[in-house]
Amino acid sequence: MSALTTFEYVNTINGERRGSANTVPVYNPATGQAFAEVPVASREDLDEAVATAGAAFVKWSATPLAERQAIVSAIGDRLEERAQEFLSLLTAEQGKPRAMAEWEVYGSIAWFREVAKQELPEQVLEDTPERKVISRHTPLGVVGAIVPWNFPILLAVWKIAPALVAGNTMIVKPSPFTPLCDLKLVELVQDLVPAGVLSAMSGDDDLGKWMTAHPGIAKIAFTGSTETGRHVMASAAGTIKRVTLELGGNDPAIVLPDVDPKKLAPPIFWAAFQNNAQFCNAAKRLYIHEDVYDAVRDELVAFAKTVVVGDGSLPETQLGPIQNKPQLEKVAEYFDDCVANGYTFALGGTIDTESEGWLVPVTLVDNPPEDSRLVTEEPFGPILPLLKWSDEADVIARANNTIWGLGATVWGNDLAAVERIGRQLEAGTVWLNEVHQYSPHQVFGGHKQSGLGAENSLHGLAEYTNHQTVCLNRVPGTVA
Ligand code: NAD
Repeated sequence: MSALTTFEYVNTINGERRGSANTVPVYNPATGQAFAEVPVASREDLDEAVATAGAAFVKWSATPLAERQAIVSAIGDRLEERAQEFLSLLTAEQGKPRAMAEWEVYGSIAWFREVAKQELPEQVLEDTPERKVISRHTPLGVVGAIVPWNFPILLAVWKIAPALVAGNTMIVKPSPFTPLCDLKLVELVQDLVPAGVLSAMSGDDDLGKWMTAHPGIAKIAFTGSTETGRHVMASAAGTIKRVTLELGGNDPAIVLPDVDPKKLAPPIFWAAFQNNAQFCNAAKRLYIHEDVYDAVRDELVAFAKTVVVGDGSLPETQLGPIQNKPQLEKVAEYFDDCVANGYTFALGGTIDTESEGWLVPVTLVDNPPEDSRLVTEEPFGPILPLLKWSDEADVIARANNTIWGLGATVWGNDLAAVERIGRQLEAGTVWLNEVHQYSPHQVFGGHKQSGLGAENSLHGLAEYTNHQTVCLNRVPGTVA
């Protein structure tokens, strides 16, 4: 275990390390054993964090943009200096193997550096002898970041970097299942930011509720399930908080008849199973043209059999465990539902309840009904329905027949057809012959019940600001 895990984990409030009367354990999903303790923030802790973040906002929002950008970039440098420790800690608390931990940690570093280059310049809309009209962005105040457990560092960074560049102060609330990396990151950068600018607090689900209702918080940047997103939005209504909601998905992947099944199998496998399918943008419904259905299924099964599932800290592991026990129980329900309804497993199908960690085998379900739970819900685990299609309009309608609209992919050699289909899919990001390519400069967000607003790009940055129009009447003699 790295040096980081021997440290005490603390909340950071007003630049100070804080414990709490109670602590709760954090588990390693590969062993099911607790290996760290974290504080449970009280309502008083939150009040203090909000008050001090509010006080820090006055100076921070007036700090020149270049200085704020330099600090955000320096936070990325600090993460890079400690990257090896964060990689081990991320695997220990989240379960993901080294390659995926590297994607997340080095991606987070890049995000800090790239978002630090972004700015929202003032626009002069009118500049005549009589009048000047300017459109500008002003920061919001204290922003609360609420983060899920699947990408604990990256999805916090997607919030911290733009919030600080735009001139806000921020309080980060990690998931209670994966609080360690976020608490440690915020603690380790306190010498770079003025006190109160960036705080972090671990608590139970009550902390999230208190944050969304708190009158001193101007905005909630939330990533998590659609169900929790509804609660966040309802609670934020009480104080007309701004919200950015990055929620669940049920991404369709459409495979055209002209693919080479053997070549397609690895990319389509990873589209579905990367991060052990605990991925908002995992391909969750695989629509395969009937002409290649059997061949693609068989190649997927063959490739999946080569993938090593196990403890993420072992070098050979390619897919880790399910991150937490409640999620394991939820994923198990989909296995039970498939068995109860007599669906055919092309691969997997049985969870070994005796295994040490929370491991689930890669499972492929052969053409279950379109209205099955596995197809209509978000299992968020490594069980994937393979579905057949023959008519283009029909498969597009089926792909869009969902409350979600986060991402979608289309795979085929006929690029005109690939693009034609892709443009008809109701999703915030449509990848064509690729998947999971993100960028700090590429807007990301969900359609329909996959979210509200956006992260990344200047659109995402703008969500950490108010629009302000400043109008100046210069006509002599108007007022004096
Ligand atoms: P979750 O909704 O259970 O929890 C997310 C966060 O909300 C946690 O920090 C949790 O403590 C907090 N929370 C719980 N109840 C709350 C309440 N009433 N008020 C305020 N905060 C509350 O989600 P999860 O299980 O951690 O993550 C998995 C879900 O997140 C999946 O649905 C996945 O698709 C989604 N997700 C979406 C994106 C995206 O960018 N759209 C990215 C990753 C994950």
